[in-house]
Amino acid sequence: MNTHQKLFPIRLMTIAMTRIFLLFTFSLLIISPSFSQDEDIFGITRKARAPKSESSLGNVFRSIQEMFSFQLSAGMARYSMGTEFYSGDAKVYPITQYQNYEFGDAPLPDTLALSTRQWILPTVEAGLRLNLFNILTLGGGYGWEKGILNPFEGSEYQFSFEGLAYRATNYYASAGLVLYDASRRRFLLKQKYKKFNGVNRELKMRMGREYQQRIQQNYPWNISIEAEVGKLNVNQGELVVPKVYQARLAAVQDQYTYAAALRVAYDLSEYASIFVMGKYMQRSFVNASSDFTPFSMDQEAYSVQTGLAIKISGTKRCKVSGCGVVMKHNHNGVEYRGSSIFNFQNRKIGQWY
Ligand SMILES: [Zn+2]
Repeated sequence: MNTHQKLFPIRLMTIAMTRIFLLFTFSLLIISPSFSQDEDIFGITRKARAPKSESSLGNVFRSIQEMFSFQLSAGMARYSMGTEFYSGDAKVYPITQYQNYEFGDAPLPDTLALSTRQWILPTVEAGLRLNLFNILTLGGGYGWEKGILNPFEGSEYQFSFEGLAYRATNYYASAGLVLYDASRRRFLLKQKYKKFNGVNRELKMRMGREYQQRIQQNYPWNISIEAEVGKLNVNQGELVVPKVYQARLAAVQDQYTYAAALRVAYDLSEYASIFVMGKYMQRSFVNASSDFTPFSMDQEAYSVQTGLAIKISGTKRCKVSGCGVVMKHNHNGVEYRGSSIFNFQNRKIGQWY
């Protein structure tokens, strides 16, 4: 065996080591671009950012705080409410015949299907909403509404209520799924432009520029669907004109309301947005009286609400005198805002207003 032959295994090992090293470096190079992006698909910032507070606990608190937003909305709803009940002895119910008088008193059927349609105006909601990684949302809050009660009608009969108006309050909890937003759009853009990696240099550069331009655009829309469960409390209004006794509306004890909503939001800034929410709601009331067995009435409502959502900024506003920086910037290693929460913080030249 000569020296060359003796060294052969060592050379093989060196080659293998070099290859492993190269492979390792190469894979790091592939992975690193995705880490150096500002955000991943969940919208979580991976870029090292200046803390929002001088203490690390304060920084954690301030970062969590930015995941919550206060919501205030108002709108109106159209409802339909119906019931089928066994009329029994008609005299105990506030039922009157309201049409076809010319045919004389029609006999009251055994089972009467009654329904009514009216407006709920206004509906007001105030709540808190937690955004989890731009994918899920959790919310909770308090709702207040004022509705009008028209007499129930069915066949030729009317069932009157005591008081024309009612008020209801509602505690609710909601869970939502973000269907589309800025971070989802960025993710899809990344996927879309990936396929130009293999094309010729000129096209690749052109597409690269286009990609950079599109990914830096502010995308203000945010679409989500939400499911909601609430607990209802009804207060029927006092009589406007004292009348003979009439039935009273009451919510079923421990009645839950169920709703599904589509929510479209438009960002005014990183911290403020306006939204429109369309909601379908299902709930039950009880028509109660000491004179007859209470019976339930099912309500279906379609509501539209517009509102404002505000996040309490985790980054404090810069109060350094003479500092006119509009974008987010640092002082002593802590991040500060240069703009109001109603303005985008990353405005570029020409976007001053
Ligand atoms: Zn400053």
